[in-house]
Amino acid sequence: MCKKGEILMVQRNTSSKSSSDSSSTSGFKKPQKIEVKKTPARKKPTCQFCSTKTEPDYKNVTVLKNFISEKGKILARRTTKLCAKHQRRVAKAIKRARILALLPFVAQYKD
Ligand SMILES: [Zn+2]
Repeated sequence: MCKKGEILMVQRNTSSKSSSDSSSTSGFKKPQKIEVKKTPARKKPTCQFCSTKTEPDYKNVTVLKNFISEKGKILARRTTKLCAKHQRRVAKAIKRARILALLPFVAQYKD
């Protein structure tokens, strides 16, 4: 932040000096703006369902098993890397599969 401000100040000073020193030159009227590099707006979809254009299904247990922990809990979005929409649908599908006894509510406790 500070560096950027300094650079801008320096740029302004030089432009004002150049205008005061040599007012006849028309090329240096406008001070050049320093453009900060922006991150690209579009990212590749990290979401598994968005990239393959599929939807989570409660009957497809092999896929849903990837989104539950060892204890049978639904994994968080930061670990599954799904988009918000598909995380919601996966959670719903897992809950449906649990009711149909396709997935466990709680994994077996081990001592
Ligand atoms: Zn998605």
